[in-house]
Amino acid sequence: MSEIHEDTSMAQTGEPSSVQPAPTASTNGQPVAPPPPDSGQPILRVSDLHVSYGSVQALHGISLEVYPGELVSICGVNGAGKSTTLRAIAGVLKPQSGTIHFKEKNVTGKKPEQMHKWGMALVPEGREIFPSLTVAENLRIGAFGRYNAKRYAADLEDIFALFPILKERLSQAGGQLSGGEQQMLAIARGLVSHPDLLMMDEPSLGLSPSLVDQIFELIATLKARGITILLVEQNAERALQIADRAYLLSTGTVKYAGPPQNMAEIVDITAVYLGGLKGGGLR
Ligand code: ATP
Repeated sequence: MSEIHEDTSMAQTGEPSSVQPAPTASTNGQPVAPPPPDSGQPILRVSDLHVSYGSVQALHGISLEVYPGELVSICGVNGAGKSTTLRAIAGVLKPQSGTIHFKEKNVTGKKPEQMHKWGMALVPEGREIFPSLTVAENLRIGAFGRYNAKRYAADLEDIFALFPILKERLSQAGGQLSGGEQQMLAIARGLVSHPDLLMMDEPSLGLSPSLVDQIFELIATLKARGITILLVEQNAERALQIADRAYLLSTGTVKYAGPPQNMAEIVDITAVYLGGLKGGGLR
């Protein structure tokens, strides 16, 4: 693989665009979360996002913010629009309308590789590692376009401290790893780019209970290191325990936005997966 070059500047790689003032109220009737205390500007601001798959409208005006150093969880039933939200933010899906501001720049409609260069990493649902490439090659792809080779070597040691198993498996094909190891590789591939925002889509999905524990311990470690995280998790109870703020999506709209403990008060977490809110319908 050819040498990779450090390039984290939007000014070098994208068109300049406007800074958007913080919203004070929802424009479409959906809840808006109060910012965390003493916060500056959000690192990510999604405003009134509409996304469709052909004639299927998946998102109906999602707005959310993530502030530097926060762990924000997005919860909701299957089909609520969680993955669509992350994929649109990462540039995989093009929104019909609405805006995405990242590090105060308007990045709406930009391509995934641009988002990656600018410091966004998506650990997708289903991991999407390259099965025929080795673990080393999969990791190298994660760093591509972000850092020079010298720094990469040092970063790998850091990654191996978090994921010792990956060091042992370095020359093995990604497809030969167990499900848990593949999930660790997918997260490591995101981390090796030193993202300013790490987005994870259902990282515990399909893993055994002990591996789920390991994944949540890892997420807590990453949070303690100050990494800004946007987490989509089917395991809402666990996700809310470690979140600073939380969003609840249903049928492509925001139903709750704010502190996780308040959400747990108004939402029966078990019932969320059966489609209900305490004292009112979720659907
Ligand atoms: P899950 O946990 O099941 O992935 P989710 O909350 O992530 O659920 P999305 O996958 O974002 O939900 O789906 C939101 C809506 O968009 C659903 O109605 C879903 O059926 C639809 N949808 C998702 N992907 C596609 C696609 N490729 N083509 C058509 N419709 C889609």
